[in-house]
Amino acid sequence: MKALIHNAQISTQDGDYSWMIIENGIIQNLGHGTLPDIENRVDMRQRLILPGLHDSHIHVYSLGRMSTRLHLHGTGSIVEMLYKLKEFREENPDQEWIIGHGWDQDLMEDGRYPSKHDLDTISPDLPVLLYRACNHIGVVNSKALEIMGITTNTPDPQGGQIDHFEDGDVTGVLREAGLSLVAPHISHLDDALRLEYYRRGVQICVEKGLTAVHTNDGQAWEYYKKLADNDELPLRVFLTHKYSDLDKGVPPVNESHGLLTAKRVKLFSDGSLGAETAALRENYDGSDQKGLLIDQPEILATKIARIHQMGYQLEVHAIGDYAAEVVMDGFQKAGITAADRAIITHCQILARDLVDRMVQNGYIANIQPPFVPTDARWAEKRLGGGERLDYAYAWKTLINAGVIAAGGSDAPIEDADPFWGLYCALFHPDPMGETWKEHERLSWEEALRIYTENGAFAVGEERHLGKLKEGYKADFVVVNPALLDNFELLKEKPLHQVWVDGKLRHTSE
Ligand SMILES: [Zn+2]
Repeated sequence: MKALIHNAQISTQDGDYSWMIIENGIIQNLGHGTLPDIENRVDMRQRLILPGLHDSHIHVYSLGRMSTRLHLHGTGSIVEMLYKLKEFREENPDQEWIIGHGWDQDLMEDGRYPSKHDLDTISPDLPVLLYRACNHIGVVNSKALEIMGITTNTPDPQGGQIDHFEDGDVTGVLREAGLSLVAPHISHLDDALRLEYYRRGVQICVEKGLTAVHTNDGQAWEYYKKLADNDELPLRVFLTHKYSDLDKGVPPVNESHGLLTAKRVKLFSDGSLGAETAALRENYDGSDQKGLLIDQPEILATKIARIHQMGYQLEVHAIGDYAAEVVMDGFQKAGITAADRAIITHCQILARDLVDRMVQNGYIANIQPPFVPTDARWAEKRLGGGERLDYAYAWKTLINAGVIAAGGSDAPIEDADPFWGLYCALFHPDPMGETWKEHERLSWEEALRIYTENGAFAVGEERHLGKLKEGYKADFVVVNPALLDNFELLKEKPLHQVWVDGKLRHTSE
């Protein structure tokens, strides 16, 4: 099927065009002026066409699962929380359990935790579990406590806590391992809905404007394959296996099935900056702690070598500077070279020598611009001033040094919207919307490159994806052209259409 996309603004590194011919999923030709004689025409009404956008680090399964749950982020009071719960219950009459996420008592005017009594007023008969924003604390209602068999006399589990009122009665608040008491009662819900989570997850991604996701999900190949077979994959899925998958048989490596490909395995080396579990070279500011490595360096190196020997591409989560160093030691020990395109994900705190080492060895930085407005609030507090802060969230510094950086959202941690990602890369904003570290702002060209060409590079597809060019796959997005004169429009849904493999997959007009 041949089609002429015309009356468009197509700006490429090789020049500006107004039309392109696509056939069998490939861009055949670009031009301007007189239109070629093709019957099947699509008028773009002067809109801007950008190359297809990649999210280089996302969790599609969790994103899909979140979409089936109650959202409580930003809730200002317990009354508001109960109102949302009531509404959700009415809109979702078939739920066996009501599960929600995102409340934060610091943001609620009541100055206390919600309790089972609050939840019972809305749901006396159906179990409810509402996670705090951190996911380390949750509150349940009386029905849930009854199902879980928790009474006044239930002892706290190892590493967890069941909160009590002064009179000894349980409040419904469960902390840390206390929350794992719920798991046996809700895990069957996930089993029944697994395929649905993937289906919703990919749909959310394409509706946000993505044409490709590099997604990290456990034991996911068969689910994505099923979606591909049912023609329910609207975008390219590059699946990154979890390390634990290697012990459950050999998951596909460099295998493709329609728009689905599996290449990588992901490892963790440390935790997070917010929880002070990111592994640093020097102590956290005002603390005698340096954070934690998940595995000792030798064990991490063994895991890296195993993955590499099995033929997978490496992706390792490293937030702290010490973690990044240990990961690079592991890459070197395993004999990984630039040709292997090993990826370090997050790269939040680096140092001059680490950046140089990344450039020398061709390690790819997988960065999350939307973390900036979330983390800026406390990054300085955790890190203190000085040189360490110079290499924190230092996207421009990385790129100027010659590191290839690919962009992602880590959704559902952050919003999967790539236009929000582009905005954060351009403005490097703090939570109030003011620029934090002006010199780390990227230009439009640089920001776009991390979501297009560099995303394609991270999956070894830079000769087929990431550019609007003859012979490349016809993956592109159609957006409001006014955004080039006013980047604030990136925050205001500039998306009109998403095309993947030469087919229109989503339209929002
Ligand atoms: Zn992640």
